[in-house]
Amino acid sequence: MKEKISSCVRDLEPSVIRQMWIKAAQYEDVISLGIGEPDFDTPGDVCESALSDAMAGHTHYTPSQGYPELLDALVDSIKRRWGIEITRDNILVTHGGMGALNGVLRTVLEPGQEVLVPEPHFPTYKAQICFSGGQIKYVPTRYEDGFVPNPETIEAAVTPLTKMIIINTPNNPTGAVIPGKVLDEIARIAVDRDLLVLSDEVYDRLVFNGRHESIYTRPGMWERTVVVNSFSKAFAMTGWRMGYAYGPQWFMEEMLKVITYQTSCASSIGQRAALQALRYDDGRFEAMAEAFHKRCDLVYQRMRNMPGIRIHPTAGSFYAFPDVSDVIPDSKQFAFDLLDQEHVIVVPGTAFGPSGRGFVRIACTVDLDRLTVAMDRMERFVRGTKH
Ligand code: PLP
Repeated sequence: MKEKISSCVRDLEPSVIRQMWIKAAQYEDVISLGIGEPDFDTPGDVCESALSDAMAGHTHYTPSQGYPELLDALVDSIKRRWGIEITRDNILVTHGGMGALNGVLRTVLEPGQEVLVPEPHFPTYKAQICFSGGQIKYVPTRYEDGFVPNPETIEAAVTPLTKMIIINTPNNPTGAVIPGKVLDEIARIAVDRDLLVLSDEVYDRLVFNGRHESIYTRPGMWERTVVVNSFSKAFAMTGWRMGYAYGPQWFMEEMLKVITYQTSCASSIGQRAALQALRYDDGRFEAMAEAFHKRCDLVYQRMRNMPGIRIHPTAGSFYAFPDVSDVIPDSKQFAFDLLDQEHVIVVPGTAFGPSGRGFVRIACTVDLDRLTVAMDRMERFVRGTKH
C-alpha cells in the first residue's frame, strides 16, 4: 500500500532529532542542545491576557487575514522597529512562521518550478517546496565564507524554471547574518532575473553585532519580496503558533485565498496573545536576546579551544555550527557517539543539506550553567576521541 503515498512524502527522511530523542530516552541527565526553541516560557501577562480574552469570547474563527487590531499593531511595530512602511493590505497572520512559508510557496509555485535555497538550510523549506509541487535547487555556502551566500553562485544557479530565492538571515542552522552589501547583490539578481524573494527573518531580533537588515528595503524589492516572520523565537511563543507575512498587495491578496482555504485563520487566542506581546514589547524580550548572545559566546569561546574543532562566532540566531570533521568525519556518527558517551544532544549538519557534512548544530537553548556542563562533556568527548 505504500505506493499510494505521494512520492514527495515517501521520500522525506524521518527526522534525525526524533531518532536521537528515542535513543536519549534510555539515559538520565541528558542535556539537549537539539531543539530550535527558546527555553524561556511565554511571559505570564501574555498568557493571562490571552486567557481572559478567551473567557470574554475570543474563541471563534477570526477573519482569515487576522484580527484587525493585531494587523494594525504589527504594521505599527514593523514601522517603529525597522522603519518599513506597510498598510493592513500588505500583511496577514498565519499558523506559525511555518504556515507563512507554506502559504507563500503555495501561492507561487507551479509543478516543476525551481526555488533557489542557500544551504545548509531550515529543513522545512525542502518539504514545503515539494508539497507545493516545486523543486528545491541548492546553492551551497561554505565555512570559509562564514556561510554567507555568494551572489555569483546564486546567479549561476538561475535557470528559466527559477521562480524564487529563499534567503534566511539570521540563519538556522549556521548563525550567519547576510551583510548589507550581499543583500544588495542578491536584490540586483532578483530584479535583473525577475525573481521573487522569500525572506525568512524569524530570528531578526537576535543579531549580535549591529542590526538586522532586510532585502525588502533594497531598491525595487518591496514589489517582489515577501517577508516571513514569527512570534515563536522573538517572544518565546512557539506553542501559540503565531506567524505573519508581509509583501506587495498584489501578492498578499492571492496568498489570503490560500490561507483561507488551508487553515481558515490562525488561532484566535494565539492572536490575542500576540497582540499582548506587541503591547508589552518594552525591552524584556531584548533581555532574552542578550541571554542568547552570552550563551552563543560561551559555546564559541569553549569550542574554539578544543582540538580539531573550527567554529565561527554566532552572528545571529541562537545556534552555533562548528566543524567537527577532524574529530569524527561523519557528523551523524559524532552526534550519536556524543549522545551515547556524554548524553548531550546536537544535530548532525547533514540534516540541513549537503554542505552541513562534517558540522553539527548546537542550539544554545539551556541556561549558562547547563551549557557549561554540556561544554565540559563535549570537551571530554572531543579530547578522548581526537588522536
Ligand atoms: N524559519 C526558520 C528559519 C526557523 O528556524 C523556524 C523554526 O524553527 C521557522 C521559520 C518556523 O517557526 P514557527 O513555525 O515556530 O513560527
